[in-house]
Amino acid sequence: MALSEALQYIDTHFQRSVAGLQELVRIPSISTGADAGADGQVARAAQFLADQLAAAGLAARLVTAPGGGNPLVLAHPAAPRAAVPTVVVYGHYDVQGVEAVGWRCDPFAGLELEGCLWARGASDDKGQLWAHVKAAEALLAVDGVLPVNLVFLLEGEEECGSGALSRFLQAGGLADLAPVACTVVSDTGMYAPGRPSLTLGLRGIVFTTVTVQGPPQDLHSGLYGGLVANPNHLLVRALASLFDDSGRIQIPGFYDDVRLPSPRERAGYQALEQEAPDLLAGLGLTPTPGEPEFSLLERRWLRPSLDIHALRGGSARTVVPAQAAATLSCRLVPDQQPARVQAQLESFLRAQFPATTRVEFGPAHAAAPYTLDLDDPVVAPALRALQLGFGREPVLVREGGSIPISGTLAANTGAPVLFVGFGQLTDNWHGPNEHFSLADLRGGMRTAAALYYELAAAIGRC
Ligand SMILES: [Zn+2]
Repeated sequence: MALSEALQYIDTHFQRSVAGLQELVRIPSISTGADAGADGQVARAAQFLADQLAAAGLAARLVTAPGGGNPLVLAHPAAPRAAVPTVVVYGHYDVQGVEAVGWRCDPFAGLELEGCLWARGASDDKGQLWAHVKAAEALLAVDGVLPVNLVFLLEGEEECGSGALSRFLQAGGLADLAPVACTVVSDTGMYAPGRPSLTLGLRGIVFTTVTVQGPPQDLHSGLYGGLVANPNHLLVRALASLFDDSGRIQIPGFYDDVRLPSPRERAGYQALEQEAPDLLAGLGLTPTPGEPEFSLLERRWLRPSLDIHALRGGSARTVVPAQAAATLSCRLVPDQQPARVQAQLESFLRAQFPATTRVEFGPAHAAAPYTLDLDDPVVAPALRALQLGFGREPVLVREGGSIPISGTLAANTGAPVLFVGFGQLTDNWHGPNEHFSLADLRGGMRTAAALYYELAAAIGRC
């Protein structure tokens, strides 16, 4: 059978796969901050991947989205087959910048040590997308065809907002493909090492800044203190009214659209939490009172939250400042709508200020929460593939974070998005010493190969 031959091919050629990933992580394809796009490295990484996909046997090319931006890598079988479903694999080849200190090695040397590859992007997301590239290569090498029409859609702007990919999708960039049956995203983490995980949901986000205008310029507090409104005072009072003493969010209607998962799904999460009950381990912190009817894991995955990230206003001088500002965000869960939450937040905060105060909001960005139904026909094949890939029964999880492009992908393909992550929460994404376990690379490659087969069989049956 082609799958077992492909799994054997993956094992036999594993060191070559590691070497290829080392080449990829050695390209500093930074898309954020001062080093963004330096020396054409982003384009170099895109070209490297297109070349690898072409060498595997796919028709691969670089695509410039409407309005420009970092190139997309698009690859698909040269002769798509009408009888098999179309599956999109999404990944991103861009990476965050690196810190000057804290790394145990050059972040772009691709050091293999202690069973891991140490490099910026090793786990987020080059190593994870590489698992799919090499799985496709293995299947094509042993069988000549893929069990599905596999479309690679790799972007270079995930770390800076996915602008090019969003424009490409909204302009109908995938329109000339056969209808997409499913999109696979490997850009998430596993619940724990050795615990293959299918991520059924991610939280959405509303991120904004509120600015309060005070006097036209900073004023001496010995002359004007107590006479005129101090924007710092107004702002902290307004922000404090967002929560009650337990931390419950006080914005009217904020919780109205929150939909809890089915009792079956929730019971699974509760059982999982029993395995690792202390989410705050190692931090030396005690949890906030929060919502006592929900466990810590449920608060992370199933409940919305609101955080004030930054406060700015005045200086350490004795003035009544001219301006105060706060940056804050809400994490959203199904079925909260970002636009509605943004409106609720703004109108609640505005009402906390005197009518004469000038209060402004923005800039804002938002992403809807995403969730996949436990009974969706793509869930069972993904679980079987993870079982085969990692040799252990997979678990169902959610994530507290957000992947904004997931909603755009789902909306533009009309197909479910499967989050099958091969990284670990301890891989140190975006920080120093990012690394990716070679065991996870191997498990990821095996899972990807099995997943294409399982999806072909399951979707073919529906
Ligand atoms: Zn990522």
